Amino acid sequence: MNPSPTATSLHDLEFDQLEARLVADGLKPTHTRALWRALYRDLDSRLEVHPEFLPPLRRWVDAQAGGQVCLDHPEVVSVVPSGDQATHKLLLRLGDGQEIETVVMDYPGRTTACLSTQAGCAMGCVFCATGQMGFVRNLRPGEIVAQVLAAQRLLRSRGSPSLRNLVLMGMGEPLQNYDSVMRALRIVCDRRGLNLGPSRISISTVGVVPAIRRMAEEDQPYNLAVSLHAGTEEERTALVPVNQRWSLSELLAACRDYCHATRRRIFFGWTLIEGRNDTPAHATRVAELLRGLDAHLNLIRLNPTEKFDGRTGGEAAAGAFQEIIQAAGIPCTLRQFRGIDVAAGCGQLRATRMRSRSPALSPDSVR
Ligand code: SAH
Ligand code: SF4
Repeated sequence: MNPSPTATSLHDLEFDQLEARLVADGLKPTHTRALWRALYRDLDSRLEVHPEFLPPLRRWVDAQAGGQVCLDHPEVVSVVPSGDQATHKLLLRLGDGQEIETVVMDYPGRTTACLSTQAGCAMGCVFCATGQMGFVRNLRPGEIVAQVLAAQRLLRSRGSPSLRNLVLMGMGEPLQNYDSVMRALRIVCDRRGLNLGPSRISISTVGVVPAIRRMAEEDQPYNLAVSLHAGTEEERTALVPVNQRWSLSELLAACRDYCHATRRRIFFGWTLIEGRNDTPAHATRVAELLRGLDAHLNLIRLNPTEKFDGRTGGEAAAGAFQEIIQAAGIPCTLRQFRGIDVAAGCGQLRATRMRSRSPALSPDSVR
């Protein structure tokens, strides 16, 4: 099946939508289950060669080969392992040539994939490599699903346990691509296929207030992560320009309403930048802001990017920041930037490659 611009990607469709399409073409519900298994259990990337389809489904697949439907199977441009092999960063090339990143991280007892949701990002956070490249386009659901499949294929090829957790913290702002993200998540959580658990999925946002309010209405228990980075309007606007559209105070109000409506904890994110937002005074301020909220604060030290002159502070400053937050009764974790040696910061592998134009490692293992 060669994708054509007018073809429908089967990876864009939820189970019921796929079934409606097959039934309209005269097939039976059992055929949907067989096709779904091929896509999401066998991780097939080419249905033409699938050995076990019953004749009607085989005929349907062959009839589609003319180009009415296709699969999302982005080219794996490179697979970059970190020195300790615990993190693999995949650079994937989409049908129109856009390149996006997916990171696979092995922790003891669990494996997490970090997904991209847009090519580029319009939010313009000054320290972020993706923000620095600007917005290109939203990803389709199938292009988000395809990243999960690529991660799962990599794990399978290494004999590792299946993927357990997802974080939507790669390139792009997931809540600016709300419908496609939610559809992709329904596809990967479908029990008949990849069967990922909604409560093991975290969606990270820079603070798209109306979409946070919409997320509070979702019936699935996805985790919400909110990237805060500053405790005053002025400081936040300097780092996160979109703060002018949705202010810190509106954002915190939406977070309070979210906690109240869902009774779920929010994971706040804070990228520590030396002297800009990592002093004890900044820590005290954020502790005050988060008081009374069911909050967890994740700290991460700045991963330097080309177009931002902020510096990475020392571990001591990060430790002192963490202690102040914890002393205020707020759980706080200092995160390691996984695979910093593979340019694992959001958008950084792509940015590095755009500069050098050299592929990293053979991507054969995930094809
Ligand atoms: N757009 C969403 C999700 C993608 S960014 C969001 O902003 O939350 C995921 C996380 O990576 C964000 O918390 C962001 O602040 C962080 N990040 C981006 N660039 C970084 C860098 N250079 N160093 C450290 N953290 C960075
Ligand atoms: Fe976009 Fe998130 Fe990067 Fe900000 S940090 S520019 S919202 S991807």
